Amino acid sequence: MSSEICPCGSKKEFDQCCGIYLSGKAVAPHPEDLMRSRYVAFYRNDLDYLKKTWHPETYPEDLGSEEPSNWVGLEIIEASEEEDEGEVEFKARLIYDNKLEVLHEISYFDKIDGLWLYHSGDFENDGKPEKLSKSTPCPCGSGKKFGNCHFQK
Ligand SMILES: [Zn+2]
Ligand SMILES: [Zn+2]
Repeated sequence: MSSEICPCGSKKEFDQCCGIYLSGKAVAPHPEDLMRSRYVAFYRNDLDYLKKTWHPETYPEDLGSEEPSNWVGLEIIEASEEEDEGEVEFKARLIYDNKLEVLHEISYFDKIDGLWLYHSGDFENDGKPEKLSKSTPCPCGSGKKFGNCHFQK
């Protein structure tokens, strides 16, 4: 058993959290669980899981052709579901080009044959990426300075 903390921000162990869904031991019971596990799949570049949990109507054929991003945090703002439809509003933070970007999205989920699937999302504009100084604490929460952590030359 690994004691890795789940990247989704739950503070639980990965094996007790999104790992259950990524490994296929169980399916995500609510849109929020699916959202968290999909964030972790992006984080780990688990394209199989992303495909499995994507609505076939909207699945992008070129998934994975872009450079993997440095995801550093997920915050669920609101999650709701009604019968076979769900909505999750979240902010995901990533570092790209030594800048901190915040992806603020409202995602829409459909339940098909008992499985929640990601359908699509609306972006909320949260302003420009923020340039990070090497001497500030890294936004990933490691406790290290950015210059000694996610900084890329
Ligand atoms: Zn998790
Ligand atoms: Zn870091």
